[in-house]
Amino acid sequence: MNLHEYQAKSLLKKLGIKVQDGVALNDMQYFDGAIEYLQSTGIHKFVVKSQIHAGGRGKGVIYRKDKHDEIVVEGGVKYMGSDVQKAKDYAGKLLGNILVTHQTGKEGKEVRTIFIAEGIDIKKEFYIGILLDRSVSKNVIMASTEGGVEIETVAEKTPEKIIKVWVDPSVGLLSYQARELAFGLGLEGNVFKDFIKFITKLYDAYVKLDASLLEINPMVISENDEVIALDAKVTLDGNADFRHKDYKDLEDTNEEEPLETEAKAHNLNYIKLDGNVGCMVNGAGLAMGTMDLIKLAGGSPANFLDVGGTATPDTVENGFRIILSDSNVKAILINIFGGIVRCDRVANGVIQAAKNINITVPVVVRLQGTNAEEAKKILDNSGLNLISATTLEEAAQKVTESLK
Ligand code: GDP
Ligand code: MN
Repeated sequence: MNLHEYQAKSLLKKLGIKVQDGVALNDMQYFDGAIEYLQSTGIHKFVVKSQIHAGGRGKGVIYRKDKHDEIVVEGGVKYMGSDVQKAKDYAGKLLGNILVTHQTGKEGKEVRTIFIAEGIDIKKEFYIGILLDRSVSKNVIMASTEGGVEIETVAEKTPEKIIKVWVDPSVGLLSYQARELAFGLGLEGNVFKDFIKFITKLYDAYVKLDASLLEINPMVISENDEVIALDAKVTLDGNADFRHKDYKDLEDTNEEEPLETEAKAHNLNYIKLDGNVGCMVNGAGLAMGTMDLIKLAGGSPANFLDVGGTATPDTVENGFRIILSDSNVKAILINIFGGIVRCDRVANGVIQAAKNINITVPVVVRLQGTNAEEAKKILDNSGLNLISATTLEEAAQKVTESLK
């Protein structure tokens, strides 16, 4: 699950990390109150920041929601200094409009929340990222003096400017590694010491929060030599949700693909793609293999869908409903290997789905494994117009042909 900047910063702040703090709001009626509150804490310079689940906001463009080709203002994040009226005018242009950045696609994302934060005078910007490096089973901390800009560009053009330190998760970040990062960034004196504390706490936060990505771009050295997280991007590892019941409140379904949200509610693993062959498969590996073979046969998968090992007729029906809600879907391939899940149950699910949903596209079915023969009988006697297949290649070919 991805978090908004203001949510990520609030979690980091609780763990003792110095962040550019502020107040989030979803309606301009709260603007004056937010400023008054910040002023009461001694803050007199402001930055106004759009909150969407995408980066590159600073260089993004705000378009009118009701008139998508009209630019309202350039930039989805702006430093306003102490000019409260200017900040208010700008904030009013963000809320309810569409922010397009290099990460959102041209349809952009609606700004439903803005963050009014403390404006900081910046001496230098850095990049810090922590994530899992699966190839070595370690966490990797990446740091660069090229902060604020797209790290992808730095990685591509000047990879030597990214310093990497691999942390063994069972040992944790060692002090020599923290120093290696500080030296690599060219830090000295008090800033050096502050950075060591900052990165140590940040690594702890990555572990404690069960994050799969923690990115601070930029981390800044302020004019008064403080080390501050100016931006924060956190992705929480969904596999650890059971340890963090409170994370449920952080979910913003507006930011997620509606079909994926619905699938989650039915315990289905669904990821929307942009092809036209809907896939219903059990097991993530088989689902990947199925997608590959559809591609090989000249088709293009519309989704990844793993119905899981305990598929019931209801699961299958919900799977159908979700696949068919995508209007790009022109054919469906059901590929089930009956191991734990029994093929006859899946067959009954297909029949139940066909009764309750109007299935208007060709459906190719391949059921193998436990009770496959019974399943075939059930489907053959159902009177439904299904195309059956025995091997996976055959299934992929038949579904691609059915598109013609
Ligand atoms: P992003 O564009 O989505 O990554 O949003 P950021 O939160 O990183 O902000 C974009 C840029 O705005 C930063 O890289 C800074 O250069 C600038 N910025 C953000 N907050 C401040 C601030 O308090 N003071 C100054 N001077 N610039 C800021
Ligand atoms: Mn940023």
